[in-house]
Amino acid sequence: MEKLKNTALSLFGNQLGLHERFFNFASLGGAAATVLATVASGISIARYAKQIGVPFWTVGGPGMIICFTCILFFLLTFAIFHITKKLNFAIMLCLIGLNFVLFPGLFMTVGGIGSGMPIYFVMGLVFTVLMLDTKPMIFMFIIESIWYVLVFVFSAKYGETVNDVFFIMPYNLMYLDEAMDFFTVGISTSVLVKVLALCFEYQQRRTNELLKQLEELSVKDPLSGAYNRRFLLRYIESGIEKHKETRAPLSIIMFDIDKFKRVNDDFGHLVGDDVIKGFSEVLLQSCRNYDVVARYGGEEFILVMPGASEETAFARAEQIRAKVETTSFSDEIDRPVTVSGGVAAYSTAFNTVEEFIAAADEHLYTAKETGRNRIIWRGSSDKR
Ligand code: GH3
Ligand code: MG
Ligand code: MG
Repeated sequence: MEKLKNTALSLFGNQLGLHERFFNFASLGGAAATVLATVASGISIARYAKQIGVPFWTVGGPGMIICFTCILFFLLTFAIFHITKKLNFAIMLCLIGLNFVLFPGLFMTVGGIGSGMPIYFVMGLVFTVLMLDTKPMIFMFIIESIWYVLVFVFSAKYGETVNDVFFIMPYNLMYLDEAMDFFTVGISTSVLVKVLALCFEYQQRRTNELLKQLEELSVKDPLSGAYNRRFLLRYIESGIEKHKETRAPLSIIMFDIDKFKRVNDDFGHLVGDDVIKGFSEVLLQSCRNYDVVARYGGEEFILVMPGASEETAFARAEQIRAKVETTSFSDEIDRPVTVSGGVAAYSTAFNTVEEFIAAADEHLYTAKETGRNRIIWRGSSDKR
């Protein structure tokens, strides 16, 4: 079962181009459809042979030979592609063989105009537009159409006089034959179109996933996994817009790791990186739905809290500060890592996002000045 799945994936899987996948499907599907068609024609011919009292092979021989040739031909073009890896060559060979030799040959030998064979010609043209693009497609489509018209014209002229080449079916069998051919061509064409539609859908979904990943990459900081500064500014801006509409509060907390240079100097940059990652994790864990954590600078982070009042933001900042103090970010650090923070809530007194952030930064500066490992906000007694 696993092996079957792997084979199917290698023939139709996503690592192949659309044309390659489609060619695999068309050649294997074509062989399968021809098996169906052979059985359908065989039944019609057998009935006919019985009706006129002759052995099956006298009327069915040439048709059956072409049917089997057709199956072998599909498998051959499939093999040629997989051995030579020349897709365009295999596609052209397949289209020329089908449209110029096999389908007209089947028409001449199993039923002529009285059979369902002409609907196979439509499938020949459908294959052409699906497997080729641009100029080759237009060129092939036109000459195939002309060729099929010529086949009809030729049959009209010589069909009745060359009776042993043109197998003209009696009226009562024509409908049965038509029904079977319709069944074969109808199912094959519908499946082909559906597969194609699914391929596109799949491709579309993958493209969307990749776009989403790309978008994620363009707004996130790779080291900490937090949003980057560009996203932060956009997010605060949209928060301000919302604040202007709804009057809902919008608060930010600006954090900076205390004496971080010393962490780097004493334990190395890699340990410093671990602290940045660990601190970012603490921040992300404390997020609610609409909160956003962004890395503002080296070891400075901003937590944006839409809907939170200044008091709420201060309380949260305090929680985070206390949590950091007791968290071990690396086995190599032998002292507690602490952070300082400044809180600000948006008001229309700020003209720009930068002014809003500067207000939080000012409180952060005070926190540093007054001993670090503390949070300063508008309500702090020792704010300047
Ligand atoms: P203060 O308490 O006043 O904030 O002291 P501090 O040492 O943290 O001061 P400062 O902001 O001047 O130092 C920040 C240091 O952070 C300087 C820089 O080498 C370091 N840094 C910035 N980005 C990174 C980074 O991505 N990884 C590491 N390991 N260090 C970084
Ligand atoms: Mg610092
Ligand atoms: Mg700093």
